[in-house]
Amino acid sequence: MLHAPWRKLYKTARWRALRMVILTRDMFTCQWPSCGLMTADTSQLVVDHKRPHRGDEALFWDERNLQCLCAPCHNSRKQRAERAQRH
Ligand SMILES: [Zn+2]
Repeated sequence: MLHAPWRKLYKTARWRALRMVILTRDMFTCQWPSCGLMTADTSQLVVDHKRPHRGDEALFWDERNLQCLCAPCHNSRKQRAERAQRH
């Protein structure tokens, strides 16, 4: 998974620009309902795909499929998803 070909999409100028669009739209606030952390430090924020794109570029670039999460929420969300996949 670490070497999936779509990972290069995260290195594009287009993604960096879209990431800022989403962070601004969500007002630098974690969208996790019980969290709501707001920070100007964008290194603490992750733009998350609500539905995993799994290399689907339409989903990858879809603003409606993107949300701002803080790093701890993103990590716990990812761990939950990975646990769910194993079962
Ligand atoms: Zn959060």
